[in-house]
Amino acid sequence: MGLLVSEILPESDGGASRGVSLPVRIAHALAQRTIWHLNSTARGGGVADLLEKSIRLHNESGLRARWLVLTGEPGFFAVTKRLHHRLHGSPDPAGPLGPAERDVYESTTRRQAREVLELVAPGDLCVLHDPQTLGLAPHLVAAGLDVAWRCHIGTAARSAVVRDTWDFLDPYLRAPARCVFTAERYAPPGLAGQRDKVVVLRPSIDPSARKNRPMTRTAAHDRLHAIGLQPGPGRPTAARTARIVQDRLLPADAPMVLQVSRWDPLKDMAGVLRGFADHVAPARDDVHLVLAGPEPDDIPDDPEGGRILRELRGVWEALDRPVRERVHLVTLSLSDPGANADSVNALQRRADIVVQKSLREGFGLTVTEAMWKGKAIVASAVGGITDQIRDGHEGALVRNPHDLAAFGRSILRLLADGDLRERYGTAAHRRCTKEFLIYREFMDYCSLYTGLLR
Ligand code: UDP
Repeated sequence: MGLLVSEILPESDGGASRGVSLPVRIAHALAQRTIWHLNSTARGGGVADLLEKSIRLHNESGLRARWLVLTGEPGFFAVTKRLHHRLHGSPDPAGPLGPAERDVYESTTRRQAREVLELVAPGDLCVLHDPQTLGLAPHLVAAGLDVAWRCHIGTAARSAVVRDTWDFLDPYLRAPARCVFTAERYAPPGLAGQRDKVVVLRPSIDPSARKNRPMTRTAAHDRLHAIGLQPGPGRPTAARTARIVQDRLLPADAPMVLQVSRWDPLKDMAGVLRGFADHVAPARDDVHLVLAGPEPDDIPDDPEGGRILRELRGVWEALDRPVRERVHLVTLSLSDPGANADSVNALQRRADIVVQKSLREGFGLTVTEAMWKGKAIVASAVGGITDQIRDGHEGALVRNPHDLAAFGRSILRLLADGDLRERYGTAAHRRCTKEFLIYREFMDYCSLYTGLLR
């Protein structure tokens, strides 16, 4: 195996095999082929999480699927992170994309493709994930592979920055036979009208994964004590799996508001903190806020995390002490994925309200996870979140993600109304069961594969 591509073997997480019985037609069509999924990080973020569970389900259902992770120089990921933000419609302080960016992008993806081609066989299928891998498509198609590209991000906005980014990606976009989006409105203008090429596939979660499986309130409390967030008997035993910035522990019975996200400007952890400090904390002196995310150094393709976390810590330090004592910044190591999953599960189970105050969002897996856990959710009405939650049904949506007062009001209203929390949580769980679980996504993948072979 080369330096730029490594294979990830998803380990069993102890759950029983949940293979899906495949229609004979699909099993037959895919019998002799390997399905390769390629992305650029083995952990952290929604795509890696999804792939791990999905690859396992493929194999447990009798298909042969493999997962390759592409690595690259920091310069390559600096370009791809810009592509990511731009496709979400964010302004790009680094300016336009030009020949220098294209050089970096193409030289890396060309070398990655060469390594991938040493592993795959004619007749195999490749699904490339996100802009980091799209540049491989022309090389893989030229070598005779059936290729789809799945884009997990996007916006329906057609601003200049979004258009320019699609223009930059256009030469690579022509190659895949299918381009998969979370919503049809995220497809680039260049693909408009190409009905056969554009496929809509919604992300999902695995209910039997360690992060989502049932956990009692006591077990959640024990886990949060173990990482050093909550009080309990004895010393925290899993303290090395989390770094926590806090003045005091989270009381066992305090109402808790939670956001779990990568440390990314578009997740707006700082906005959550300010919204809480300015609009929730003054009205309720019992509520605590927990902001939790992965250890930034553990995510190679996300170079901004460390800086965002440092900035957030600065905002936290500047808070008045009585408010600061009720805000907890939790960084969870990804080096032990099982411990990470347990901590995320415990935090989400323990939360009274889960927020996702993203400024942009393709589709929030943290939202789906909270839905599965029957939590009352307050989220921004942006991107894919509006496909997950209907305001006033499965949760509360804040129309303007910059409106901190409205965000605070939604939280206060839910904190004061246990019946409403219950109603939202029940509706969210029901919708998640029907629409956002991995079995449905797997069958959608099977249709994608058979479509590729046609
Ligand atoms: N996540 C995690 N550990 C962490 C922080 C986040 O496993 O310390 C997971 C989270 O539970 C979710 C995913 O990372 O499954 C984030 O996916 P989402 O779609 O919400 O956002 P993305 O990071 O893909 O933009």
